[in-house]
Amino acid sequence: MFGLIGHLTSLEHAQSVARDLGYPEYADQGLDFWCSAPPQIVDNIKVTSITGQTIEGRYVESCFLPEMLATRRIKAATRKILNAMAHAQKHGIDITALGGFSSIIFENFKLEQFPQVRNIQLEFEKFTTGNTHTAYIICRQVEQASAQVGINLADATVAICGATGDIGSAVCRWLDACTDVKDLLLIARNQERLTELQAELGRGKIMDLESALPEADIIVWVASMPKGVEIDPSRLKQPCLLIDGGYPKNLATKIQHPGLHVLNGGIVEHSLDIDWKIMHIVNMNVPARQLFACFAESMLLEFEKLYTNFSWGRNQITVEKMEYIGRLSVKHGFRPLLI
Ligand code: NDP
Repeated sequence: MFGLIGHLTSLEHAQSVARDLGYPEYADQGLDFWCSAPPQIVDNIKVTSITGQTIEGRYVESCFLPEMLATRRIKAATRKILNAMAHAQKHGIDITALGGFSSIIFENFKLEQFPQVRNIQLEFEKFTTGNTHTAYIICRQVEQASAQVGINLADATVAICGATGDIGSAVCRWLDACTDVKDLLLIARNQERLTELQAELGRGKIMDLESALPEADIIVWVASMPKGVEIDPSRLKQPCLLIDGGYPKNLATKIQHPGLHVLNGGIVEHSLDIDWKIMHIVNMNVPARQLFACFAESMLLEFEKLYTNFSWGRNQITVEKMEYIGRLSVKHGFRPLLI
């Protein structure tokens, strides 16, 4: 059985979901209440591959909210993730994806030091960040959606916001090795990590976001920001493809302009309907078929009975592993969301 550990995007989102699901007593509660709420399994899932194989899974709501980081409730945030992992393991789940901020919190606060959660010894090999599949899907979106909107990669400058992150660095590696993209603009805050990435790639310009935006034909947004940024669309090139892989979204601005194309990044579409309700709750456009690529990674590992932490640690995603998970993705009927 596979598992997905997820969270909602804001306190407001959590309150409205609680109201929709018929829990009015949760809907009126503030952040402190969510800090003390335990993890819950809120969905039972059935997925069928195009090979005909069917698997079962569970969705574990961790009750983490990004505001916990913004207001420095770090202890609550880390407890949410460890408790959700213990909950998944206690329910016999063989491989669980750590969605959205779950893996970021796990890594940033070095939670591997705390494998004991009450009476449960966490077995980390039963968890995956899902980032290899996410990075692969974003790269395929860059390649395929650029063609859809008439951008030729060989002439294109691609800016990666969050370039030094786990997903961002993998995207840079792929774009460098597997495409003929003209230029890479590397954006993040920590200069040392940017210099290291530039040295590893042997290319790429280190830039701040403001200077990079007007130069980019394609912008990949994979920064771990608790809230989206406002950008001025008039400063962007036309055409410009913006692939927003952030969860919550990196882009706060609603862009509506014929020359600017915004695509939800790191999202896959399955070829067959999935029996679940959770993607309705996170407002996917086609909830029966669309899902986060990190969640799909745990499904792929379950289909293949690969009970291993396929994606783990930070900045270790290789092009070979992306190609491997990409082959499994195609085999079981997933494809990148396009425009
Ligand atoms: P990491 O923590 O590994 O990397 C985050 C990157 O963002 C770093 O390069 C960091 O560098 C940069 N960053 C953070 N804040 C800012 C800022 N204000 N301005 C510019 N750069 C910034 O995260 P992941 O790679 O694991 O995840 C990235 C995003 O992808 C997250 O939003 C996550 O929720 C989402 N995600 C989506 C998935 C999907 O299936 N679609 C799956 C998993 C994750 P620095 O700190 O130096 O600025």
